[in-house]
Amino acid sequence: MSTRAGIVVTGTEVLTGRVSDRNGPWLAERLRELGVDLAYTAIVGDRPEDMRAALAFMAEQGLDVVVTSGGLGPTADDLTAEVVGGFQERPMELDEALSGRIAAIVAPLMKRWPNIDPEAIARANRKQATVPRGATVLEPVGTAPGLVVGPPQSRRGPTIVVLPGPPRELQPMWQTAAQTDALRAALRDATVYEQRTMRLFGIPESEIAETLRVAEREGVELGRIEVTTCLKRGEVEIVARYEPDAAEVYAAFAAVVESRHADTLFSEDGSTVDQQVAALLRERSWTIATAESCTGGLLAARLTELPGSSDYVRGAIVAYANEVKVALADVSLELIETHGAVSSQVAEALARGARARAGADVGVGITGVAGPGGGSEEKPVGLVWISVVLEEQEPITRSVNLPGGRADVRDRSTTVAMHLVRRALADA
Ligand code: ATP
Ligand code: MG
Repeated sequence: MSTRAGIVVTGTEVLTGRVSDRNGPWLAERLRELGVDLAYTAIVGDRPEDMRAALAFMAEQGLDVVVTSGGLGPTADDLTAEVVGGFQERPMELDEALSGRIAAIVAPLMKRWPNIDPEAIARANRKQATVPRGATVLEPVGTAPGLVVGPPQSRRGPTIVVLPGPPRELQPMWQTAAQTDALRAALRDATVYEQRTMRLFGIPESEIAETLRVAEREGVELGRIEVTTCLKRGEVEIVARYEPDAAEVYAAFAAVVESRHADTLFSEDGSTVDQQVAALLRERSWTIATAESCTGGLLAARLTELPGSSDYVRGAIVAYANEVKVALADVSLELIETHGAVSSQVAEALARGARARAGADVGVGITGVAGPGGGSEEKPVGLVWISVVLEEQEPITRSVNLPGGRADVRDRSTTVAMHLVRRALADA
């Protein structure tokens, strides 16, 4: 039987969307690595009754482990430790030694705030050092300790791991929690799964559904591998998860995908197009530069996301106005007047300008109509021209008609550009 877990993310700021949840997805990935099946994630506000209801729901599902995030701070609205203690039927007790350790962490921080009432600090300290009886305390990364709290002896139930909300505190503390005897005992039956990712570009998701049917017909035992497909930033991602003894089933499935989608399958090892472009540039010791109109530098931002990108990114020109295209990217004004700013000619001129001005081996130009206004019959919203110029080679220039709103069009343009660059480099 597999080990199953739930996540309870707390915080009214997360529930309302003012802060987007980074802890749930991060913990989901860690649980997966440990071979734990994540069954549910709940997001609740800072209300004790809602938190209790979420824990009760998770317990009713028979989960082995529940991880909570948030609500461990020193203020009265931070209630998680108390709620979890109550849920596991453990009285709350002041841990004097922990109180001393928190005081030692807080004292130097308080030098910056000389007017703070010492009694308020003492109260906050007592609150954070009051923990459920028998819980394993996880040392603070910030000022809040975390907890691993087992079920009461009177009943079965999940072991609850209580972690602070700020991701920079939660992440290292999870690593500590995973080493505790209490959590290891709860996870001892976890199966370690294999997970593989394939990525395709330029194909609708429905084609993959058909491929799954074909694989089934060809006798691939898909029931033994859990396959999920999703559309992500214009690419199709196929993720398969399986127990180690189903490796041959996965290999057979991957072979079907390879044979049906050789032209659009660009990653079989889970690598992203961004990583592949970086690797291709490094292999050739080439550099790249961009001149961007409608994307306003988003492609350059994407190219510089990977650490070490200074090895191959030379720079970028954001040429939004026509005069800037002329002045900074050497696009001729006649070209713009003859063909319009959104045209193959201007995209190509931008690519050449980027390459020449930045002294790069590869130049990329992007110009398009991001919308929502500014479209015409001839050049509708979503029309984007992208050009890649490589040393000595004919430029590769393509147009795409991208769906969605302004943000989608701009983001998707960078994906298309990445794939054009990848193909140009792979063929060079
Ligand atoms: P603190 O001592 O900072 O109050 P806490 O454990 O009580 O710690 P919260 O009050 O829930 O944590 O959250 C503190 C801050 O951490 C939030 O304002 C938010 O900026 C960040 N944070 C909390 N939960 C999340 C989350 N799920 N995803 C991303 N950021 C989060
Ligand atoms: Mg808080």
